[in-house]
Amino acid sequence: MDRIKEKEYKKEYYQKNKVKIKKQMKEYYKKHKKEIKEYKKEYNKEYYKKHKDTIKEYLEEYQKKHKKEIKEYRDTHKEERKEYNKKNKEKIRKQETIWCDNNIEKVRDYDKRWRKDNPIKANEKKIRYRLKYPKRFKAQMLAQIYIPIPTRQVCEFEGCKELAKSRHHEDYDKPLEVVFLCPKHHRVRDKIRQEKENRGL
Ligand SMILES: [Zn+2]
Repeated sequence: MDRIKEKEYKKEYYQKNKVKIKKQMKEYYKKHKKEIKEYKKEYNKEYYKKHKDTIKEYLEEYQKKHKKEIKEYRDTHKEERKEYNKKNKEKIRKQETIWCDNNIEKVRDYDKRWRKDNPIKANEKKIRYRLKYPKRFKAQMLAQIYIPIPTRQVCEFEGCKELAKSRHHEDYDKPLEVVFLCPKHHRVRDKIRQEKENRGL
């Protein structure tokens, strides 16, 4: 049988047995739901990895083209989104943390730009921070004034060769005792200290 005939035959067979085939497929799906989902997830991940740049480009293009519709959609679904965000607070926060860990430079740039564009809000934020964490604020201020980061200072995290960009306090009661760290390891060390504090150590 040549290929065209084969195709036609398959088509015919499908048309004739449509209901039966669909039922079989449904049953198969039901039985192997978990594996199929797992497979799909893996497949999507691989696909995304391979075509990351194209997907990003496409999305950016799409967002540019449909700016108005997207805004309208967001505005009309505002309440639902709020509700969803409220319900999934923990999950969203975790996702955000992971994203920030992987995009530290972007976060820093965004933060810098935001502070420049919103000086009043930035100042209010600083005041709120100062009131909420007085000891932390004081230590950071003192360190900023008295301990300049040496030029070409390498991150002090074991094994890291990146340039240090900030000062890390292990103990805010000792404002002049700092470790120089790169942005990535500053986050890591902050997290470790936070966990210690949470455990009451
Ligand atoms: Zn580092």
